[in-house]
Amino acid sequence: MKKLLKWPSFMLVLIFSLVLSGCSTGTDTPSASGGGDAEAKGTIEQIKERGKLIAGVKYDTKLFGLKDPASGNVEGFDIDIAKALAKQILGDETKVELKEVTSKTRIPMLQNGDIDIIIATMTITDERKEQVDFSDVYFEAGQSLLVKNDSAITGLESLSGVKVLAVKGSTSAQNIREKAPDAEVLEFDNYQDAFTALKAGKGEALTTDNIILIGMQQTDNSFQLVGGNFTSEPYGMAIRKGDTAFVEEVNTLLKSMQDSGEYDTLHEKWLGAKPE
Ligand code: GLU
Repeated sequence: MKKLLKWPSFMLVLIFSLVLSGCSTGTDTPSASGGGDAEAKGTIEQIKERGKLIAGVKYDTKLFGLKDPASGNVEGFDIDIAKALAKQILGDETKVELKEVTSKTRIPMLQNGDIDIIIATMTITDERKEQVDFSDVYFEAGQSLLVKNDSAITGLESLSGVKVLAVKGSTSAQNIREKAPDAEVLEFDNYQDAFTALKAGKGEALTTDNIILIGMQQTDNSFQLVGGNFTSEPYGMAIRKGDTAFVEEVNTLLKSMQDSGEYDTLHEKWLGAKPE
């Protein structure tokens, strides 16, 4: 009797997996063509012809890419790396145009050709690797939570029913839904809007990379980080898919910055200490 029953379920599993594999072949084929890769060749040549590097950077992220409204200058760790790249390719660190990207606009802007490279607190993920190529890791961050100093929230375990603020297109918005499924996630276009909303009490916690939260906390010490780092966020620079020469150029830069000590100097300048 038992034996007889096993057959139908076995058949069901077989049919189900055949259907599934059929479906995935159907969806894989069109996306494998990728689209948007036609301009993958020659970013370095384009930069040289144009006489400047166009880097997509954040304007609202203290420590990595922040625009000072008074001077109009954009400053941070990512910005200094963009300048070093301009120096390596064009022999002049001032030959760089810094264009604002957000977490949501950065990949489309790279694919459209609006920018040559994304240097913008961007985590290397397998999902993103389907759309862009990445340099080697140049910074290791981890996702955390920013709350009021007197908040009862101590970490992921206290987020049930809590309004958590995040930014559209970030890994943080995706991760928090997995790690705290009972939280209510509200998404904003950029970090400035998300932090303004936190200050206005529109949510009880803001989640993103620890280093971005530290930058916010430095501007308002009535907030603190809690819950430790609950993800790993290795930052990479993103390049149009297939442009391996440019990826190599960027990796050469990272290596020479590390060998010369320039990387450590930048780390200390923006983050207060040399890397561990
Ligand atoms: N590193 C995370 C990400 O790439 C969060 C920071 C950001 O939104 O840029 O999504």
